[in-house]
Amino acid sequence: MKKHNFSAGPCILPKSVMEKAAQAVLNFDDGLSLLEISHRSKPFVDVMEKARSLALELLDLEGKGYKALFLQGGASTQFLMVALNMLEKRAGYLNTGTWSDKAIKEAQIYDDIYEVASSKSAGYNYIPKGYDIPEDYDYFHCTSNNTIFGTQIKEFPNSPIPMVCDMSSDIFSRQLDFSKFDIIYAGAQKNMGPAGATLVVVKEDVLGKVSRKIPSMMDYKVHINKGSMFNTPPVFAVYVSMLTMEWLKDLGGIKAIEEENEKKARLIYSEIDLNPLFKGYAVKEDRSIMNATFTLENENLKETFDAMWKEAGINGLNGHRSVGGYRASMYNALTLDSVKALVEVMSELERKA
Ligand code: PLP
Repeated sequence: MKKHNFSAGPCILPKSVMEKAAQAVLNFDDGLSLLEISHRSKPFVDVMEKARSLALELLDLEGKGYKALFLQGGASTQFLMVALNMLEKRAGYLNTGTWSDKAIKEAQIYDDIYEVASSKSAGYNYIPKGYDIPEDYDYFHCTSNNTIFGTQIKEFPNSPIPMVCDMSSDIFSRQLDFSKFDIIYAGAQKNMGPAGATLVVVKEDVLGKVSRKIPSMMDYKVHINKGSMFNTPPVFAVYVSMLTMEWLKDLGGIKAIEEENEKKARLIYSEIDLNPLFKGYAVKEDRSIMNATFTLENENLKETFDAMWKEAGINGLNGHRSVGGYRASMYNALTLDSVKALVEVMSELERKA
Protein backbone atom coordinates (compact mmCIF):
# COMPACT_ATOMS: atom_id res chain seq x y z
CA MET A 1 0.00 0.00 0.00
CA LYS A 2 1.26 3.50 -0.87
CA LYS A 3 1.42 5.23 2.50
CA HIS A 4 3.91 8.03 1.93
CA ASN A 5 3.19 10.33 -0.99
CA PHE A 6 6.28 12.30 -2.04
CA SER A 7 4.79 13.10 -5.42
CA ALA A 8 5.34 16.63 -6.79
CA GLY A 9 1.60 16.85 -7.40
CA PRO A 10 -1.12 17.24 -8.31
CA CYS A 11 -2.88 17.52 -5.00
CA ILE A 12 -1.39 16.29 -1.76
CA LEU A 13 -4.00 16.95 0.91
CA PRO A 14 -4.68 16.04 4.55
CA LYS A 15 -6.92 12.97 4.94
CA SER A 16 -9.50 15.00 6.89
CA VAL A 17 -9.85 17.41 3.96
CA MET A 18 -10.23 14.52 1.49
CA GLU A 19 -12.99 13.04 3.66
CA LYS A 20 -14.94 16.30 3.89
CA ALA A 21 -14.50 16.83 0.14
CA ALA A 22 -15.82 13.34 -0.61
CA GLN A 23 -18.83 13.96 1.63
CA ALA A 24 -19.60 17.27 -0.13
CA VAL A 25 -19.70 15.46 -3.46
CA LEU A 26 -22.39 13.15 -2.06
CA ASN A 27 -24.38 15.66 -0.04
CA PHE A 28 -23.54 19.31 0.38
CA ASP A 29 -26.85 21.16 0.59
CA ASP A 30 -29.96 19.33 1.69
CA GLY A 31 -29.30 16.21 -0.37
CA LEU A 32 -27.69 17.95 -3.34
CA SER A 33 -24.05 17.52 -4.30
CA LEU A 34 -21.63 20.44 -4.25
CA LEU A 35 -21.19 19.62 -7.94
CA GLU A 36 -24.85 20.14 -8.82
CA ILE A 37 -25.93 23.21 -6.84
CA SER A 38 -25.87 26.56 -8.59
CA HIS A 39 -22.62 28.44 -8.23
CA ARG A 40 -24.82 31.52 -7.73
CA SER A 41 -26.64 29.92 -4.79
CA LYS A 42 -25.91 31.22 -1.29
CA PRO A 43 -24.16 28.03 -0.11
CA PHE A 44 -21.59 28.27 -2.88
CA VAL A 45 -21.21 32.06 -2.80
CA ASP A 46 -20.43 31.63 0.92
CA VAL A 47 -17.73 29.07 0.02
CA MET A 48 -16.12 31.43 -2.49
CA GLU A 49 -16.19 34.35 -0.05
CA LYS A 50 -14.75 32.21 2.75
CA ALA A 51 -11.98 30.93 0.48
CA ARG A 52 -11.09 34.45 -0.64
CA SER A 53 -11.03 35.85 2.88
CA LEU A 54 -9.08 32.88 4.33
CA ALA A 55 -6.38 33.32 1.69
CA LEU A 56 -5.89 36.96 2.69
CA GLU A 57 -6.07 36.14 6.40
CA LEU A 58 -3.43 33.39 6.19
CA LEU A 59 -1.11 35.68 4.21
CA ASP A 60 -1.75 38.53 6.67
CA LEU A 61 -2.92 40.76 3.82
CA GLU A 62 -6.37 41.70 5.12
CA GLY A 63 -7.15 45.41 4.96
CA LYS A 64 -3.98 46.16 2.98
CA GLY A 65 -5.54 46.81 -0.44
CA TYR A 66 -5.37 43.24 -1.75
CA LYS A 67 -8.03 41.08 -3.36
CA ALA A 68 -7.93 37.28 -3.62
CA LEU A 69 -9.30 35.52 -6.70
CA PHE A 70 -9.75 31.87 -7.63
CA LEU A 71 -9.31 31.61 -11.38
CA GLN A 72 -9.02 28.82 -13.92
CA GLY A 73 -6.28 27.90 -16.37
CA GLY A 74 -3.55 27.01 -13.88
CA ALA A 75 -0.46 29.01 -13.03
CA SER A 76 0.46 28.78 -16.72
CA THR A 77 -2.39 31.14 -17.60
CA GLN A 78 -1.01 33.61 -15.05
CA PHE A 79 2.22 33.76 -17.07
CA LEU A 80 0.32 35.63 -19.79
CA MET A 81 -2.33 37.27 -17.58
CA VAL A 82 0.36 39.06 -15.57
CA ALA A 83 1.86 40.42 -18.78
CA LEU A 84 -1.51 41.45 -20.22
CA ASN A 85 -2.43 43.36 -17.06
CA MET A 86 0.95 44.81 -16.13
CA LEU A 87 3.31 44.98 -19.10
CA GLU A 88 3.41 48.32 -20.90
CA LYS A 89 7.03 48.71 -22.01
CA ARG A 90 9.45 46.36 -20.30
CA ALA A 91 9.56 43.97 -17.37
CA GLY A 92 12.39 42.28 -15.47
CA TYR A 93 12.32 38.53 -14.81
CA LEU A 94 14.52 36.39 -12.57
CA ASN A 95 15.11 33.10 -14.38
CA THR A 96 15.47 30.33 -11.79
CA GLY A 97 13.96 27.32 -13.52
CA THR A 98 11.67 25.80 -16.10
CA TRP A 99 8.61 27.65 -14.82
CA SER A 100 10.35 31.05 -14.76
CA ASP A 101 11.56 30.34 -18.28
CA LYS A 102 8.03 29.57 -19.40
CA ALA A 103 6.74 32.74 -17.72
CA ILE A 104 9.36 34.75 -19.64
CA LYS A 105 8.43 33.16 -22.98
CA GLU A 106 4.74 33.91 -22.50
CA ALA A 107 5.34 37.54 -21.46
CA GLN A 108 7.66 38.04 -24.44
CA ILE A 109 4.65 37.60 -26.71
CA TYR A 110 3.41 40.96 -25.47
CA ASP A 111 6.49 43.08 -24.95
CA ASP A 112 10.09 43.38 -24.04
CA ILE A 113 11.45 41.19 -21.23
CA TYR A 114 14.81 41.57 -19.57
CA GLU A 115 16.30 38.73 -17.56
CA VAL A 116 17.73 40.43 -14.47
CA ALA A 117 19.67 37.23 -13.74
CA SER A 118 19.58 33.54 -14.64
CA SER A 119 20.97 30.28 -13.30
CA LYS A 120 20.11 28.39 -16.50
CA SER A 121 23.71 27.69 -17.50
CA ALA A 122 24.29 25.94 -14.15
CA GLY A 123 21.26 23.68 -14.63
CA TYR A 124 19.28 25.95 -12.30
CA ASN A 125 20.93 24.53 -9.19
CA TYR A 126 21.13 27.88 -7.41
CA ILE A 127 19.30 31.19 -6.97
CA PRO A 128 21.13 34.21 -8.45
CA LYS A 129 21.74 37.08 -6.01
CA GLY A 130 23.00 40.63 -6.13
CA TYR A 131 21.19 41.62 -9.33
CA ASP A 132 19.70 45.04 -10.02
CA ILE A 133 16.05 45.68 -10.73
CA PRO A 134 15.72 48.71 -13.05
CA GLU A 135 13.44 51.36 -11.57
CA ASP A 136 11.81 52.31 -14.85
CA TYR A 137 10.44 48.84 -15.65
CA ASP A 138 6.79 47.93 -15.23
CA TYR A 139 7.31 45.07 -12.80
CA PHE A 140 9.72 42.41 -11.54
CA HIS A 141 8.73 38.72 -11.71
CA CYS A 142 10.20 35.83 -9.74
CA THR A 143 9.38 32.23 -8.83
CA SER A 144 9.62 31.59 -5.09
CA ASN A 145 10.15 27.83 -5.28
CA ASN A 146 11.55 25.91 -8.22
CA THR A 147 9.59 22.69 -8.06
CA ILE A 148 11.71 20.80 -10.58
CA PHE A 149 15.19 21.77 -9.38
CA GLY A 150 14.55 22.03 -5.64
CA THR A 151 15.72 25.60 -5.08
CA GLN A 152 13.88 28.31 -3.20
CA ILE A 153 14.34 32.05 -2.81
CA LYS A 154 15.16 32.68 0.85
CA GLU A 155 15.48 36.46 0.69
CA PHE A 156 13.39 38.48 -1.70
CA PRO A 157 14.75 41.76 -3.06
CA ASN A 158 13.35 45.13 -2.02
CA SER A 159 11.95 45.80 -5.44
CA PRO A 160 11.60 49.47 -6.48
CA ILE A 161 8.82 48.40 -8.89
CA PRO A 162 5.79 46.11 -8.38
CA MET A 163 6.90 42.59 -7.51
CA VAL A 164 5.03 39.61 -8.98
CA CYS A 165 5.69 36.13 -7.66
CA ASP A 166 4.76 32.63 -8.78
CA MET A 167 4.32 30.79 -5.45
CA SER A 168 2.70 27.69 -6.94
CA SER A 169 4.81 25.18 -5.08
CA ASP A 170 5.38 26.86 -1.72
CA ILE A 171 2.30 28.98 -1.04
CA PHE A 172 1.24 28.78 2.64
CA SER A 173 4.39 26.85 3.57
CA ARG A 174 6.56 29.52 5.21
CA GLN A 175 6.26 32.94 6.77
CA LEU A 176 7.17 35.87 4.53
CA ASP A 177 6.30 39.52 4.48
CA PHE A 178 3.67 38.99 1.78
CA SER A 179 2.99 42.73 1.59
CA LYS A 180 6.30 43.03 -0.32
CA PHE A 181 4.49 41.48 -3.29
CA ASP A 182 1.96 43.18 -5.54
CA ILE A 183 0.74 40.05 -7.30
CA ILE A 184 1.07 36.51 -5.95
CA TYR A 185 -0.24 33.55 -7.89
CA ALA A 186 -0.29 29.85 -7.21
CA GLY A 187 -1.90 26.83 -8.84
CA ALA A 188 -3.96 25.07 -6.15
CA GLN A 189 -2.59 21.61 -6.73
CA LYS A 190 0.30 21.47 -4.27
CA ASN A 191 -0.56 23.10 -0.97
CA MET A 192 -4.22 23.98 -1.49
CA GLY A 193 -6.51 21.67 -3.41
CA PRO A 194 -7.24 19.80 -6.63
CA ALA A 195 -5.95 21.10 -9.95
CA GLY A 196 -8.40 23.49 -11.57
CA ALA A 197 -8.22 26.57 -9.36
CA THR A 198 -5.44 29.13 -9.22
CA LEU A 199 -5.15 31.56 -6.35
CA VAL A 200 -4.30 35.08 -7.46
CA VAL A 201 -3.72 37.78 -4.84
CA VAL A 202 -3.56 41.24 -6.36
CA LYS A 203 -2.87 44.63 -4.86
CA GLU A 204 -5.58 46.63 -6.55
CA ASP A 205 -3.62 49.84 -6.99
CA VAL A 206 -1.13 48.27 -9.42
CA LEU A 207 -3.88 47.59 -11.95
CA GLY A 208 -5.27 49.82 -14.70
CA LYS A 209 -1.91 51.17 -15.86
CA VAL A 210 -1.58 49.51 -19.27
CA SER A 211 -2.97 50.99 -22.47
CA ARG A 212 -3.95 47.75 -24.22
CA LYS A 213 -7.44 46.30 -24.28
CA ILE A 214 -7.58 43.22 -22.09
CA PRO A 215 -10.04 40.40 -22.90
CA SER A 216 -12.54 40.11 -20.02
CA MET A 217 -11.43 36.63 -18.90
CA MET A 218 -7.83 37.85 -18.73
CA ASP A 219 -8.59 41.06 -16.88
CA TYR A 220 -7.96 41.01 -13.11
CA LYS A 221 -10.23 44.03 -12.66
CA VAL A 222 -13.17 42.21 -14.24
CA HIS A 223 -12.68 39.26 -11.89
CA ILE A 224 -12.31 41.55 -8.87
CA ASN A 225 -15.49 43.46 -9.77
CA LYS A 226 -17.40 40.19 -10.11
CA GLY A 227 -16.21 38.73 -6.80
CA SER A 228 -14.25 36.00 -8.60
CA MET A 229 -17.51 34.86 -10.20
CA PHE A 230 -17.25 36.41 -13.66
CA ASN A 231 -17.93 32.99 -15.14
CA THR A 232 -18.58 29.57 -13.62
CA PRO A 233 -15.81 29.01 -11.09
CA PRO A 234 -14.18 25.60 -10.54
CA VAL A 235 -16.51 24.86 -7.63
CA PHE A 236 -14.94 21.65 -6.35
CA ALA A 237 -11.37 22.98 -6.46
CA VAL A 238 -12.40 26.18 -4.67
CA TYR A 239 -14.31 24.26 -2.01
CA VAL A 240 -11.43 21.89 -1.31
CA SER A 241 -8.97 24.80 -1.22
CA MET A 242 -11.22 26.44 1.35
CA LEU A 243 -11.20 23.25 3.44
CA THR A 244 -7.40 23.08 3.29
CA MET A 245 -7.08 26.71 4.35
CA GLU A 246 -9.45 26.02 7.28
CA TRP A 247 -7.29 23.02 8.23
CA LEU A 248 -4.19 25.21 8.11
CA LYS A 249 -5.80 27.95 10.16
CA ASP A 250 -6.88 25.44 12.84
CA LEU A 251 -3.34 24.09 12.92
CA GLY A 252 -2.00 27.53 13.83
CA GLY A 253 -1.55 29.04 10.37
CA ILE A 254 1.60 29.40 8.32
CA LYS A 255 3.80 29.79 11.42
CA ALA A 256 2.82 26.32 12.67
CA ILE A 257 3.20 24.57 9.32
CA GLU A 258 6.53 26.28 8.67
CA GLU A 259 7.96 24.71 11.85
CA GLU A 260 6.80 21.30 10.66
CA ASN A 261 8.13 21.88 7.14
CA GLU A 262 11.52 22.89 8.51
CA LYS A 263 11.73 19.73 10.61
CA LYS A 264 10.98 17.63 7.53
CA ALA A 265 13.53 19.49 5.42
CA ARG A 266 16.25 19.26 8.11
CA LEU A 267 15.73 15.52 8.39
CA ILE A 268 15.97 14.73 4.68
CA TYR A 269 18.87 17.10 3.97
CA SER A 270 20.92 15.84 6.89
CA GLU A 271 20.52 12.30 5.53
CA ILE A 272 21.51 13.46 2.03
CA ASP A 273 24.61 15.16 3.45
CA LEU A 274 25.66 12.42 5.88
CA ASN A 275 24.93 9.37 3.76
CA PRO A 276 27.84 8.91 1.31
CA LEU A 277 25.58 7.17 -1.21
CA PHE A 278 23.59 10.34 -1.95
CA LYS A 279 24.32 13.80 -3.29
CA GLY A 280 22.09 16.89 -3.19
CA TYR A 281 21.32 18.63 -6.49
CA ALA A 282 20.77 22.22 -5.33
CA VAL A 283 23.45 24.31 -3.63
CA LYS A 284 22.97 24.13 0.14
CA GLU A 285 22.01 27.74 0.84
CA ASP A 286 19.22 27.69 -1.74
CA ARG A 287 17.69 24.33 -0.91
CA SER A 288 13.91 24.16 -1.02
CA ILE A 289 11.97 23.06 2.04
CA MET A 290 9.26 21.78 -0.32
CA ASN A 291 11.14 19.76 -2.96
CA ALA A 292 14.42 18.03 -2.06
CA THR A 293 16.32 16.91 -5.16
CA PHE A 294 19.15 14.37 -4.94
CA THR A 295 20.98 11.69 -6.88
CA LEU A 296 22.69 8.41 -6.13
CA GLU A 297 26.50 8.60 -6.24
CA ASN A 298 26.56 5.07 -7.68
CA GLU A 299 23.92 4.44 -10.35
CA ASN A 300 24.40 0.68 -9.92
CA LEU A 301 22.43 0.95 -6.68
CA LYS A 302 19.38 2.38 -8.43
CA GLU A 303 17.50 -0.88 -8.86
CA THR A 304 18.00 -1.88 -5.21
CA PHE A 305 17.08 1.58 -3.88
CA ASP A 306 13.99 1.82 -6.07
CA ALA A 307 12.77 -1.58 -4.92
CA MET A 308 13.40 -0.65 -1.27
CA TRP A 309 11.45 2.61 -1.23
CA LYS A 310 8.57 1.10 -3.15
CA GLU A 311 8.50 -1.79 -0.67
CA ALA A 312 8.32 0.77 2.18
CA GLY A 313 5.08 2.20 0.73
CA ILE A 314 6.72 5.32 -0.70
CA ASN A 315 5.25 6.91 -3.82
CA GLY A 316 6.40 9.52 -6.32
CA LEU A 317 10.12 9.77 -5.56
CA ASN A 318 11.44 9.84 -9.12
CA GLY A 319 13.04 13.13 -10.14
CA HIS A 320 11.63 15.26 -12.94
CA ARG A 321 12.72 13.96 -16.35
CA SER A 322 14.83 17.07 -16.96
CA VAL A 323 16.94 16.54 -13.80
CA GLY A 324 16.82 12.78 -13.18
CA GLY A 325 17.67 11.25 -9.82
CA TYR A 326 15.13 11.69 -7.05
CA ARG A 327 12.82 14.39 -5.77
CA ALA A 328 11.14 14.20 -2.39
CA SER A 329 8.27 16.68 -2.47
CA MET A 330 7.28 17.54 1.08
CA TYR A 331 4.18 19.67 0.77
CA ASN A 332 2.24 20.84 3.82
CA ALA A 333 0.12 17.68 4.06
CA LEU A 334 3.07 15.27 4.05
CA THR A 335 3.85 14.19 7.61
CA LEU A 336 7.19 14.09 9.39
CA ASP A 337 6.62 10.33 9.79
CA SER A 338 6.67 9.94 6.02
CA VAL A 339 10.05 11.70 5.85
CA LYS A 340 11.30 9.44 8.66
CA ALA A 341 10.21 6.42 6.59
CA LEU A 342 12.19 7.66 3.58
CA VAL A 343 15.28 8.47 5.64
CA GLU A 344 15.09 5.00 7.18
CA VAL A 345 15.20 3.45 3.68
CA MET A 346 18.17 5.64 2.71
CA SER A 347 20.09 4.59 5.85
CA GLU A 348 19.18 0.96 5.26
CA LEU A 349 20.68 1.21 1.77
CA GLU A 350 23.92 2.49 3.28
CA ARG A 351 23.99 -0.43 5.74
CA LYS A 352 23.40 -2.90 2.90
CA ALA A 353 25.82 -1.44 0.33
N1 PLP B 1 4.84 27.37 -11.58
C1 PLP B 1 5.38 26.45 -10.76
C2 PLP B 1 6.40 26.89 -9.76
C3 PLP B 1 5.00 25.12 -10.86
O1 PLP B 1 5.53 24.21 -10.03
C4 PLP B 1 4.04 24.74 -11.82
C5 PLP B 1 3.62 23.33 -11.95
O2 PLP B 1 4.10 22.45 -11.29
C6 PLP B 1 3.52 25.73 -12.66
C7 PLP B 1 3.93 27.03 -12.51
C8 PLP B 1 2.51 25.40 -13.71
O3 PLP B 1 1.28 25.23 -13.09
P1 PLP B 1 -0.03 24.79 -13.86
O4 PLP B 1 0.16 23.36 -14.23
O5 PLP B 1 -1.10 25.02 -12.84
O6 PLP B 1 -0.20 25.66 -15.04
